[in-house]
Amino acid sequence: MSARARMVVVGGDAAGMSAASQARRRRDAGDLEIVAFERGGHTSYSACGLPYYAGDVVKDWRTLVARTPAEFAERDIDARIRHEVEEIDLRDRRVRVRDLAAGRSSEESWDVLVVATGSEPLRPPIPGIDLPGVHGLSVLQDGIDLRQAVDAGPRRAVVVGGGYIGLEAAEALVNRGVPTALVEAGPQVMGRIDPDMGALVSKAVRDVGVELHTEEQVEAIEGDGRVRAVRTAARTLEADLVVLGLGTRPAVGLAEAAGITLGPSGAIAVNPRMRTPHEGVWAAGDCAEARHLVSGLPVNYHLGTIANKQGRVCGINIGGGDATFPGVVGTAVSKICDVEVARTGLSEAELRPLGLSWESATVDSTTRAGYFPGAAPLRTKVLAERRSGRLLGAQIVGREGAAKRIDVFATAIWNGMAVDEMVNLDLSYAPPFAPVWDPVLIAARKLSEQVELTLRDGR
Ligand SMILES: Cc1cc2nc3c(=O)[nH]c(=O)nc-3n(C[C@H](O)[C@H](O)[C@H](O)COP(=O)(O)OP(=O)(O)OC[C@H]3O[C@@H](n4cnc5c(N)ncnc54)[C@H](O)[C@@H]3O)c2cc1C
Repeated sequence: MSARARMVVVGGDAAGMSAASQARRRRDAGDLEIVAFERGGHTSYSACGLPYYAGDVVKDWRTLVARTPAEFAERDIDARIRHEVEEIDLRDRRVRVRDLAAGRSSEESWDVLVVATGSEPLRPPIPGIDLPGVHGLSVLQDGIDLRQAVDAGPRRAVVVGGGYIGLEAAEALVNRGVPTALVEAGPQVMGRIDPDMGALVSKAVRDVGVELHTEEQVEAIEGDGRVRAVRTAARTLEADLVVLGLGTRPAVGLAEAAGITLGPSGAIAVNPRMRTPHEGVWAAGDCAEARHLVSGLPVNYHLGTIANKQGRVCGINIGGGDATFPGVVGTAVSKICDVEVARTGLSEAELRPLGLSWESATVDSTTRAGYFPGAAPLRTKVLAERRSGRLLGAQIVGREGAAKRIDVFATAIWNGMAVDEMVNLDLSYAPPFAPVWDPVLIAARKLSEQVELTLRDGR
């Protein structure tokens, strides 16, 4: 390493810029030069806010940008937008970078490399998928484009895919008064929660006026120069606006081509300090693996919560500190209009292949004291290991105030708690916030009784 080391970051959003910022806090510009390359036109933006910008809940896209290149420059971080890294050379410690505005490529050296290329939307080869009027929702520019399309007053929209991005897009469209249909190939929306809970979400989608078609695969997007309809085996849905939410995969093409090791999940293999097996090469965010603390397996989830934390850990270590990222428990929340959805730990479908046996309990309760104005229904499902009672997973569907209760379960899973240890948790209560027995406690109590019964029965 030369006297002044050079850190190159590939990808200028959550993970990459967290790593850059943390490294800078610990090492000044005389000791470490930091250059971040971002192929898009923005750094450190909130992709999570995009559906809300399209839906006019967030009025100005600029508020979604946490820090611009000029702000990074004030902290001696050279963030270059519209610069795409085309190749990584591990042996000579160089990257080839294309300045997209100038249309030229150059070689840049590095002593420390952070790969933070994020994830990319799945785009199966459906005929017509590239027609004008078909939108993805991945980077900030997608959100700006979708907002413009919605502002133009489409007559009818179709959302393809019922994961959380599809649902949030559907909510945005409905709230903007656009008649909307949603097509989902699986039997329910929100495929990562169990079918019994997913059915509640599918109902919520229909209740807000979205025309939902499950178990239907899109065969073609039709149009002549512009999108006109979406065709499935069962029907043709007229649409002059289509939003794709078909899932994402880790953006690892660049890393793979360079010979950077991928793990079993298909994302970049890292140790708990976020270092890859290659000297001086780090990775963080959607493109990197994490360990699932319940299954012990490497997983690859695409969540801003994880990207920011992994980027922070990576940057602290590059800065000379010592931080580790222990793993994840798979906590996520979303909503469709008034109905909130949350999950943590593992679902039944995820538990099945692990060979674990479990008990589950589902309870119906309310978000506030039953007599209090605004009290609304909330259903909680909890899963615990059959004999030990160790909490394995939880899912919640309900109205305002429901979803964030998942954080109690997430904390319990994180700490390896059994459901009987949760029954007397000192959770807060006042009528406007919860019943005297919070739904979290009712669910834990019911499941712990069930675990006790199975133990008594010797099952
Ligand atoms: C619509 C939407 C809603 C979401 N909502 C939530 C939510 O509510 N909660 C939550 O936790 N998460 C949410 N997420 C996920 C969250 O935004 C991501 O997990 C997070 O942004 C990942 O950060 P990252 O830095 O790893 O990757 P990204 O944000 O994907 O950033 C990677 C960056 O790298 C750049 N890049 C890629 N390749 C190159 C290259 N070769 N050269 C230069 N630059 C490159 C890309 O342009 C991109 O800007 C949402 C995502 C979307 C799209």
